[in-house]
Amino acid sequence: MNKNEIKVFCPATIANVSCGFDVLGLALDAVGDEMTVRKIDTKGVYISKIIGQDIPLETEKNVAGIAGLALLQASDYLGGFEIEIHKKIKAGSGIGSSAASAAGAVWAMNMLLENPFSTIELVQFAMEGERLASGVPHADNVAPALFGGFTLVRSYDPLDIIQIHTPKELYATILHPQIEIKTADSRKILKTTISLQDGIKQWGNVGGLIAGLYTEDYALIGRSLVDHIVEPIRSILIPGFDDVKKASLDAGALGAGISGSGPSIFALSKGEQTAEKVAKSIKEVYRTIGVEYDLHISKVNLEGMKNLNP
Ligand code: ADP
Repeated sequence: MNKNEIKVFCPATIANVSCGFDVLGLALDAVGDEMTVRKIDTKGVYISKIIGQDIPLETEKNVAGIAGLALLQASDYLGGFEIEIHKKIKAGSGIGSSAASAAGAVWAMNMLLENPFSTIELVQFAMEGERLASGVPHADNVAPALFGGFTLVRSYDPLDIIQIHTPKELYATILHPQIEIKTADSRKILKTTISLQDGIKQWGNVGGLIAGLYTEDYALIGRSLVDHIVEPIRSILIPGFDDVKKASLDAGALGAGISGSGPSIFALSKGEQTAEKVAKSIKEVYRTIGVEYDLHISKVNLEGMKNLNP
């Protein structure tokens, strides 16, 4: 193995997961970017190549660059890093495109420096990338990308991230309609207060989902994948949302909702066969809607980042 270079798989992620706005997230296995990071003598972070997407190469405009600089500043390493990004996750899709780059860069750099930083410190560096992408340094995508499985941001101040036990048979089906919804716009339409009644329903579901994941109670997971606060407002921006959700549940999905700030819609199922049935039903709905789309099926990823040349 070349100790000065590493190639990593950076997973796509689903944030919010229905009831957990800004606090819950999960990592995917079959969807993600690839990134090569190498040590160089010159101090700084340099992005030499981006394949697959039109994203800025300038360090200060790229989330991988900003997150990498945050790590470099905290490190006593005197050299720098060069990054090549092979983007497979479309920016603005709602499945953590920016998070994959920010988290992937700092994870790879930490490996090359022989792991001076803890995973929680890497989350903090990667959040600086998220600040660039959306204006808010949120952790609900970068945490699952780095830890794998489901994660819960219990607190932002101080940052407290909990890795949640994730049942092995959980699969996600993801529909990405090819329309653009800016994260900033989909935040703007949300109300800043909620009713006590909605709060009660929502934290009941968050607790239920966590309990369901730990006890591998798939029916409880399904009953808890409900969002009373954000989905009723945001789903209006996504063509065919209600029909896609209904078709997913009819095909056997445990639950379905908006992935991150959309426009992607996710459904969670027990087992790959059901996830495929769900995909077929979604395709039928979207044939009548007339919007181009991508469709992915993926196991929930239990490891997070992967070294592609171990
Ligand atoms: P997503 O939820 O899919 O990550 P965001 O809207 O949060 O989408 O982030 C995408 C924004 O971040 C775009 O404006 C994009 O140009 C910017 N960006 C900067 N660097 C990257 C990168 N390496 N990968 C993806 N997006 C990036």
